Amino acid sequence: MVDMEKRECSCRKWELTGIPCKHAIASLNEMVDNNEKVGELYTYVHKVYWLDTWKEMYSFKVEPIKIRSMWPKSDCPTTLVPPPHNKAIGRPTKKRRITTKEMIEIQQLTVSKRVTMPGPARTKMGIDV
Ligand SMILES: [Zn+2]
Repeated sequence: MVDMEKRECSCRKWELTGIPCKHAIASLNEMVDNNEKVGELYTYVHKVYWLDTWKEMYSFKVEPIKIRSMWPKSDCPTTLVPPPHNKAIGRPTKKRRITTKEMIEIQQLTVSKRVTMPGPARTKMGIDV
């Protein structure tokens, strides 16, 4: 469904891009074939693509940047001050957290000890040996 008045199509490409989709162009061709009034074709494209808009954008004069000696002096302080220190509430943590790599190493050590070394409890009870 193409709405030529609102410049919309049900495929939504015309609204998204601002450029008529193939359905809108087919509708335009149909209108021309039926001798309907189409008007200027560039009006079917969004205004941002118009040459007049482009000319209006660049109509203003661009001021060149002055040299450093001509810059205005700023009131902002040039030395950096550290942020205020806030002591956290409660006892500081002293125990270091174990990294994932250390955790994996500890797990591998415990697993290898279980497999290779017979436990003293098993020999005392007389299950093994
Ligand atoms: Zn479409």
